[in-house]
Amino acid sequence: MNCWHCNEELIWGGDHDLDDYEDMEYDIVTNLSCPRCESYVEVYHKIEK
Ligand SMILES: [Zn+2]
Repeated sequence: MNCWHCNEELIWGGDHDLDDYEDMEYDIVTNLSCPRCESYVEVYHKIEK
């Protein structure tokens, strides 16, 4: 996955489990960062029902 702003390849920072939150539509958030422009990206994965 590449950066929205500068198209550099993003660095994966980690996945976080969101299971503890009530009323949450998403179960996993993935953090990514750009080594060129230092943008920070979070990808929320929708819970599959
Ligand atoms: Zn970038």
